[in-house]
Amino acid sequence: LQIIQAKYTASAVRKDQYPTEGLPEIAFLGRSNVGKSSLINSLCGQRGLARVSGAPGKTQTINYFNVTLQEKTDAEEQRTPLFFVDLPGYGFAKTGGKNRQLWSHFIGEYITGSPNLSLLFLLVDLRHPGLDIDLQAYRWLADNEVPLQIIGTKADKLGRNDRSRNLAAVKRLFPAAFPPIAYSSLKQDGKNELLHMVYEALYE
Ligand code: GDP
Repeated sequence: LQIIQAKYTASAVRKDQYPTEGLPEIAFLGRSNVGKSSLINSLCGQRGLARVSGAPGKTQTINYFNVTLQEKTDAEEQRTPLFFVDLPGYGFAKTGGKNRQLWSHFIGEYITGSPNLSLLFLLVDLRHPGLDIDLQAYRWLADNEVPLQIIGTKADKLGRNDRSRNLAAVKRLFPAAFPPIAYSSLKQDGKNELLHMVYEALYE
């Protein structure tokens, strides 16, 4: 399995701006700076596709990338077009006090109002399983019965023992999701597993 083509297509903050092609959608969500842009770029094999920013919370639109997933066996080759949907990072409070929200309202609107959403990847930093803000996001998603896969990012920053200990913690803390996958954009660890989940979400 591999991504053979990826192209930025559209940005949206309102429903009437969502693309109308009706392609299946895989969404990516996580705290600002969790490594979401790096993950999308590494999955697609394109460095500059989603921005990797030093300024957390900057990307405040829903961004659609038209990608083609290729499955190749000896006998045949199958190509599936879909959208990767990059949701804005949460947990970056521009306003403090009582205006502080978990995330921009249009994130919730997208998640509950997108009939083509097949699977949502919730990214958590594998070094810090169970951050309050990630658990809040998880509870909201689980309550809304969103098909959910947790990705533990920046796995290369952990040794083998810490990696498996923290993966087990994530599995325990996010029980409604599929078993977590450890990912490293730096080393491309977890890429096959992740693409496999994309494939299953489209075809099962
Ligand atoms: P985003 O805000 O969630 O899109 O996060 P970015 O992709 O911009 O990454 C935030 C920071 O973490 C950047 O400095 C990246 O280079 C770094 N980073 C992201 N993924 C990895 C990874 O897998 N391994 C390591 N070591 N650093 C990473």
